[in-house]
Amino acid sequence: MPHTILIATQNLGKIAEMRRMLRILTSDLGVNLVGLDALPKIEPPEENGTTFIENATIKARYYADATQMIAIADDSGLVVDALRGAPGVLSARYGGHGLDDAGRTALLLHNMHDIPDSERDARFVCAVCVAGNSAETLTAEGTVEGNITRAPRGNNGFGYDPVFVPVGETRTTAELTEHEKDSISHRGRAIRALIPDLYEMLR
Ligand code: IMP
Repeated sequence: MPHTILIATQNLGKIAEMRRMLRILTSDLGVNLVGLDALPKIEPPEENGTTFIENATIKARYYADATQMIAIADDSGLVVDALRGAPGVLSARYGGHGLDDAGRTALLLHNMHDIPDSERDARFVCAVCVAGNSAETLTAEGTVEGNITRAPRGNNGFGYDPVFVPVGETRTTAELTEHEKDSISHRGRAIRALIPDLYEMLR
């Protein structure tokens, strides 16, 4: 029987990316991919882990239990060396709940105003976790190294993409095409690392 996998995030940017990256499961195994946005609202769990892996596991387990589906969740964020790792696991909540993506990005640039160009190193980190109806979970992590710009550029992607230039690039991830971002991104790397185990699980 074909499986259904729930892409367990409310973030529409992440749903679009994960849907593209998991498409191979649909063509190879007939897997039906459903975003959390297609289901009646489920209150989110408290993300009280201290690492990306812990929070991804909390979310995958919670949504698998709530829906009885196989759930894939990611926890991701931007780690800035000059800010001692901030915003890190708090990337979605940086500056409090009143801010949107543009507000959080502006706050980041403001807080890095005095940081010279040579010390603006950062990385995006993504942990992914798959949970089903057994206690077993699958996890993987991916990162992409880069630098923080002095002003936002580009309209693609989401979150901090307009201020992040990957190593070896001159464009921000918001100026890359979808395909270009997927091929180097933290999320692309984490999901590609997970796919062999996911095939095993679904066989
Ligand atoms: P969470 O994983 O839902 O806790 O939120 C992760 C947050 O990190 C997002 O809301 C974004 O602000 C940021 N983030 C994660 N991945 C990306 C990305 O690919 N591009 C830009 N920002 C990202």
